[in-house]
Amino acid sequence: MLQIDRVSSNRAAALEHLERDAEGTALLFMAGTWQPSSDGATRACVDPATADEVARVAEGTRADAERAIELARTAFDDGTWPQMAPAERARVLLALADLIERHAAELTKLETLGCGKPLREAEFDVADAAACFRYYAGLATKPHGQTFDVPAPSMSFTVREPIGVCGQIVPWNYPLLMATWKLAPALAAGNVCILKPSEYTPLSALWLAKLAQEAELPNGVLSVIPGAGPVVGAALAESMLVDKIAFTGSVATGQSIMRAAAGNVKKISLELGGKSPNIIFADADFQTAIDYALFGIYANAGQVCSAGSRLVLQREFADRFLTELVRRAQAISVGDGFHAGTEMGPLVSETQRDRVERYIALGREEGATLLCGGSRATVAGGDRGYYIEPTIFTDTTPDMRIVREEIFGPVLVVQLFGDESEAIRIANDSAYGLAGAVFTNDAARAHRVIRKLRAGITWINTYHPTYNEAPWGGYKQSGIGRELGTYGYDAYTEVKQVNVNLAVEPSGWFREPGAHR
Ligand code: NAD
Repeated sequence: MLQIDRVSSNRAAALEHLERDAEGTALLFMAGTWQPSSDGATRACVDPATADEVARVAEGTRADAERAIELARTAFDDGTWPQMAPAERARVLLALADLIERHAAELTKLETLGCGKPLREAEFDVADAAACFRYYAGLATKPHGQTFDVPAPSMSFTVREPIGVCGQIVPWNYPLLMATWKLAPALAAGNVCILKPSEYTPLSALWLAKLAQEAELPNGVLSVIPGAGPVVGAALAESMLVDKIAFTGSVATGQSIMRAAAGNVKKISLELGGKSPNIIFADADFQTAIDYALFGIYANAGQVCSAGSRLVLQREFADRFLTELVRRAQAISVGDGFHAGTEMGPLVSETQRDRVERYIALGREEGATLLCGGSRATVAGGDRGYYIEPTIFTDTTPDMRIVREEIFGPVLVVQLFGDESEAIRIANDSAYGLAGAVFTNDAARAHRVIRKLRAGITWINTYHPTYNEAPWGGYKQSGIGRELGTYGYDAYTEVKQVNVNLAVEPSGWFREPGAHR
């Protein structure tokens, strides 16, 4: 009971920072003004740990999306932000980073409330969001063009310019961080943004908009329109007035966005799913490999695009490794993200919990052996929360759907290999190519394997670290383009080539009428 009281008070404290109407509904952010949706509709936000409704949020409509696009167009075409000195834009982003840090404790709670992750994970996300805004504030003022040594009397160089109006659509697994990865580089480069958070987790993005306003981001430069993907998201993807669409989410939605974006040949960035191999050789440091195998799949309850969801394990030590892995997986403390000591929270929604349960049933039907987990986790006081036990399947075959498809939950599938070439073949046998890792004490082998992996994000003797400085994105069906680092900045700019004639005189290529060569 004591703990439930603590959760309720945390919840109230977190929500009071949102802009709300008289009934307490969180409003949407339309180019600088807080307002209800055009038809007054609202949607419930549900706490995944309790299944209780914790907030109602204005549900954006197609008309809201279209209005936001019109306002964004004007802000880009006629406004000050794209023309502003980069140092001035940087000042706003640095102020926003400071505000995120000042409110870190409450933002952390809001994030845990929205998507269920343990406070210590949410705390990391909030710190990382502040760092990301700082990184791009710094990058805004750095040189971006190139000069070319062309024959005299000409000179040639490039300038980078903002793309324009950017529609940004994000998922629910890292609500604040995914919004930040899109907004920070886009704003630093001088773009105008319309962000659509996930239906499940709009709260922290709305608060971020409020903090951006407080940081003196000019009105019109940002809108945050919560709403259904096929309504608000599709309106952004289809609009002829939007110049770029940046999306993080599933492959199926990414494909529909690509089709919709074809209308005006928008620039597109897609960060999609994964089924990433975590390759472990028998010569790896045993406890380090166990530790990161757990972290690779059970961090954020497996709801991570880059999760190490396929454990590609050397056969000769598989029994010993799996015995220890199961022992450790069964000891993971599953519970309410607000409770101290919780190591893995609930899944984000009932829909996601049901989806993961369907995959677990499918794994059994397909003939894989369930080594541990496979059921709803029992959590004191959390009967209605969306909890699933850390689950491991072995005796898999390459054609099983649990091996091929992204489950996006705490379900690890084991694939055994004999030698290095077989490990690489198994690792690359996927439609995805987001991430992958290798654990071995043989440095040359580690690098050989990494160079053969068809994946955009790789690790040696570790899993999951992400840096704002380094590019993030996938090969194959895991996406198009890269976020973060200078790559992420470039993805929000157009490159203009400028050629100058330093000897201002006619070229004489076409003769004067009557003149002879
Ligand atoms: P999703 O594709 O269902 O939804 C993502 C977003 O797209 C949501 O905001 C949703 O409202 C919107 N959307 C849905 N239909 C749309 C449409 N027709 N047009 C425009 N927008 C639409 O994905 P999800 O379930 O929210 O997230 C899980 C997926 O995201 C997983 O596949 C995961 O791998 C992927 N993901 C990838 C990364 C990465 O960096 N590669 C990061 C996080 C999540």
